[in-house]
Amino acid sequence: MTAPLIDPFARAITYLRVSVTDRCDFRCVYCMSENMTFLPKKDLLTLEELDRMCSTFVNLGVEKLRITGGEPLVRRGIMTFFRSMTRHLESNALKELTLTTNGSQLEKYAQDLYDAGVRRVNVSLDTIDEGKFAEITRWGRLPQVLRGIDAAQKAGLRIKINAVALKGFNEDELPTITQWCAERDMDLTWIEVMPMGDIGNENRLGQYWSLKDVRRSYEDHFTVTDLTERTGGPARYVRLEETGQKIGFITPLSHNFCESCNRVRLTCTGELYMCLGQEDMADLRAPLRDHPEDEQALETAIRAAITLKPKGHDFDYSRQKLDGQMPRHMSHTGG
Ligand code: SAM
Ligand code: SF4
Repeated sequence: MTAPLIDPFARAITYLRVSVTDRCDFRCVYCMSENMTFLPKKDLLTLEELDRMCSTFVNLGVEKLRITGGEPLVRRGIMTFFRSMTRHLESNALKELTLTTNGSQLEKYAQDLYDAGVRRVNVSLDTIDEGKFAEITRWGRLPQVLRGIDAAQKAGLRIKINAVALKGFNEDELPTITQWCAERDMDLTWIEVMPMGDIGNENRLGQYWSLKDVRRSYEDHFTVTDLTERTGGPARYVRLEETGQKIGFITPLSHNFCESCNRVRLTCTGELYMCLGQEDMADLRAPLRDHPEDEQALETAIRAAITLKPKGHDFDYSRQKLDGQMPRHMSHTGG
């Protein structure tokens, strides 16, 4: 049996997040500028290369694959890739195949995703007000996303809503979004906005809203109980007594989850980032392309990369250059 991937801090790497494109049909103000320059197509891993890459990780013990982007469902032929991953679910090597999406293409693909073995989908949605939705996503249209969510639920996919917490933007919607999720039996997670990439100067729509304050706002509307459950990721959870819902809070800026971090991120060009908050990365595209018949070279490169996984990240505003801002866009590393 192949030895699993263990990093220098004894953490087993079992979760791979894969960005399959840097392109998107939305231009969320906290994520992208209106005029983005995207990567040349030749730099992107082909669907076959993505298959080889992910399959190698699965052979090395990765049990969970999350497909993201950019918007993963705008990548041409992406269903071929999802279907090709089904074999790893069937062999039981892979326990979960999932994706994070803006929901715009779900109406079209929900059934295909279910048929490929996807059971849970994260949909990013910051507001359920049509006008505000158009404002925050610039190019997105809420009814299309709502139709996508309906189609996904009809197909049997479990939906979790991820909302970026933005002061002065969706602050007032906390009870309505929560109630809306409860009515549709969807879990909800709030994400703290992170300083990422060059997104232009016009992006001051909504500001940093600390999750401590979001949690406090819940207490104004619901009876809140802390849950001890952790998933190896940055989320903390509470239960709302009135609705029975589980509400998550993701604070990527804090260091509270690094010691249990089980994940690495692959970009659409085959760079492996060992940590969302660090610039260290390894190029896996070269060993993949240079040795088309030889998985050993790729495996060796992956193992070497994992030895570089840092103990933790450093978003601390006082310690990092440029206000702790990361030069990469979330759409590059996949969020
Ligand atoms: N396009 C897909 C989507 O929006 O779900 C997948 C990629 S998107 C980069 C993944 C997640 O990153 C989304 O939930 C989005 O809200 C979040 N995100 C993007 N920029 C962010 C930022 N600056 N701070 C916090 N979350 C961000
Ligand atoms: Fe696109 Fe997702 Fe970024 Fe919004 S958050 S611009 S939907 S990649």
